[in-house]
Amino acid sequence: MERETLAVLRDTFGFDAFRPGQEEIVDAVTAGRDTLAIMPTGGGKSLCFQLPALLRGGVTVVISPLIALMRDQVRGLREAGVEAGALTSGNTPEETDAVWDALSAGRLKLLYMAPERLAVGGVVQMLSRAGVGLIAVDEAHCVSQWGHDFRPDYLRIGDLRRALDVPLAAFTATADAETREEIVQKLFAGREPAMFLRGFDRPNLHLAFAVKDSPRRQILDFAAARKGQSGIVYCGTRAKTETLAQALREAGHGAISYHGGMEAEDRRAAETRFQQEDGLIVCATIAFGMGIDKPDIRWVAHADLPKSVEGYYQEIGRAGRDGAPAETLTLYGPEDIRFRRSQIDESPAPLERRQADHGRLNALLGLAEATRCRRLELLSYFGETPEGPCGRCDLCDSPPETFDATTPVRMALSAALRTGETFGAGHLIDILMGNATDKVRQRGHDDLPTFGVGKETSKPQWQAIFRQMLGRDLMRPDPERHGGLRMTEAARPVLKGEAEVILRRDTIRSAKAGPKVKA
Ligand code: ADP
Ligand code: ZN
Repeated sequence: MERETLAVLRDTFGFDAFRPGQEEIVDAVTAGRDTLAIMPTGGGKSLCFQLPALLRGGVTVVISPLIALMRDQVRGLREAGVEAGALTSGNTPEETDAVWDALSAGRLKLLYMAPERLAVGGVVQMLSRAGVGLIAVDEAHCVSQWGHDFRPDYLRIGDLRRALDVPLAAFTATADAETREEIVQKLFAGREPAMFLRGFDRPNLHLAFAVKDSPRRQILDFAAARKGQSGIVYCGTRAKTETLAQALREAGHGAISYHGGMEAEDRRAAETRFQQEDGLIVCATIAFGMGIDKPDIRWVAHADLPKSVEGYYQEIGRAGRDGAPAETLTLYGPEDIRFRRSQIDESPAPLERRQADHGRLNALLGLAEATRCRRLELLSYFGETPEGPCGRCDLCDSPPETFDATTPVRMALSAALRTGETFGAGHLIDILMGNATDKVRQRGHDDLPTFGVGKETSKPQWQAIFRQMLGRDLMRPDPERHGGLRMTEAARPVLKGEAEVILRRDTIRSAKAGPKVKA
């Protein structure tokens, strides 16, 4: 059977070898085990159900939310001589008839369907008669109610599995534990499938974060050290894509901007230019990258903090697809944290979803302020267990110095509590340092016991402590109180003396001296 698998891999798909993780998944799915496979985007998930579909009897039903992707895959399979068809809203009636004919004649090996099809009367009965041997679910996280891609019709897949009583193989790139749990509940009725989590490491990418102090300068320096290489700068706003591209052009780079507010035609032109031109820099919002297949992007920088580890990973992952070394740099600062928090708080999403989003942001901030190898942090977030520090990240290059910050953190929490949790970091720092500003005196805050308790610590140090406290989610800006800092549950044990806080000292120094950026 092993030999047969390899023969199909070569002869039908034209690949010499499996990618990391593919072989085990293909074996499990072919053997008819219920499977949940988590692989990064571009990791090669489709092969993991397409190949078993050819080795197993009957037709494999593939549920996918993306019509364009289904059409691409069907085209690719047909070109490889595999009988495949799709039932999507984009079909002509003739196409749909042809698919049903092939299905009832038993010729079809793969049948792609949008989840909405499952709601159409009689479809499940037709599939029961067609001899389905396997259900494959692409983008399985769409079943998660608290995720961003929730598709209610995905909830019908559980019923389909029960009706057909065949193995189910689910695929996704979204790895967080809650989503995984929901997939197991909703698609497998809680019966644990064989779980595979593979291929998240991108060893050729160098990872680095830096505290924003003069963001434009930092991006220009990073680009200057990589002149003539293709790169992407991800920006938080449309306006910034334009101003940064302008600044890069003035510094002598080829640079263009790209965002969702541009006309479709201009976006396409920008994509084509980036694809074809050597050494071009694109300053873009996250709208950029979906359709980009450029293997030699040598660097990706974030001028603003992304919104989750998944987003971060996906964006840096566009660099170095050719396997050659590529560099990444992600800038972050307290404004980013405030911006992302208020974005979540102001969204109309239900409370659970907003809480989940805060949790996702916390995970990214934990990565930003990590105290050990960044790749270890990143991969363990995805559930992988690497063997040791990577040697290819900023924290391996220069390990951060840490210190016990429990006392200053308690001082800061107490300053916030004693002033009603209504003030921002600036005012709280004035109180801690004993600066009798007008605002401090007017409110009588110079009479507080906390006034001046932190004067041994410099202002940039306090700023770094507050930023790391926000990053650890010990404090949060309260949208109801003009962003005044409020203590979170996580801070309670610290205040009570039951937990200590270890923070990084190097970012404190860099708040003054500017972050080190590896050239
Ligand atoms: P995703 O995991 O995002 O669904 P795809 O299945 O689209 O990824 O695969 C990404 C790319 O990798 C495709 O171009 C595919 O042809 C290629 N690919 C998949 N498996 C292999 C392999 N074993 N060897 C070489 N290329 C592969
Ligand atoms: Zn490392």
